[in-house]
Amino acid sequence: MSQDEVKQLKLYLEFLQEGGVEYIPKGSHPSPRAEEASPLPKSADTGPLEEARELLGDCKRCPLWETRNHLVFGEGDPHAQLMFVGEAPGREEDLQGRPFVGQAGKLLTQFLQGIGFSRDEVYIANILKCRPPGNRTPQPQEIEACLPFLLKQIQAIQPQIICTLGAIATQTLLGQKASITRIRGQSLPWRWGIKLFPTFHPAYLLRNPGQKKKAYQDFLQLKEMLETQG
Ligand code: SF4
Repeated sequence: MSQDEVKQLKLYLEFLQEGGVEYIPKGSHPSPRAEEASPLPKSADTGPLEEARELLGDCKRCPLWETRNHLVFGEGDPHAQLMFVGEAPGREEDLQGRPFVGQAGKLLTQFLQGIGFSRDEVYIANILKCRPPGNRTPQPQEIEACLPFLLKQIQAIQPQIICTLGAIATQTLLGQKASITRIRGQSLPWRWGIKLFPTFHPAYLLRNPGQKKKAYQDFLQLKEMLETQG
């Protein structure tokens, strides 16, 4: 096993341990659970986020490295109260190395501006950091390889709310199948005292503009939640 693989395994085991998993039955692949745990201790600098980026390095932990132009780590306020997690970089994101900069990203930015936020005031990331060819759905083994680094980012940022964009991000962080249409717009308890708030993926809204109104209502609710939590 290479040094990188050992580090990756260590991260994954830490993540499981923090979620209360004490042993792993042979052949099983536990997923993150929607369960509360004690809040994280607050960090004062961006060190943990930089550490996660350094650990990720020029990642080749799944086959997506072979077709990427740029790895898209994420960007925004390292101490943001509100974090967005989408599915994976698309074409434009892969070209620029930045999350949500294509048409879907423009819509996300508009919604954010609508509730009085700039992109710099939130943190934006994806489940996968490399683009699946042709924007296909992420494979379970790709998610398994990449997820520990998103969890490290979340641990570093310590947001109050994670808004998951679309079914893949929602189901991955919840660790269970769920219909985005059914659970969107709800505040769900997650781990480390953080709340999950699923809504539609902006790319879905571009294909189904009739749902934009519902999505914007979700953003208004997000704003209210942040104001209430203070
Ligand atoms: S998708 Fe994630 S695990 Fe796969 S190569 Fe990219 S950074 Fe590494």
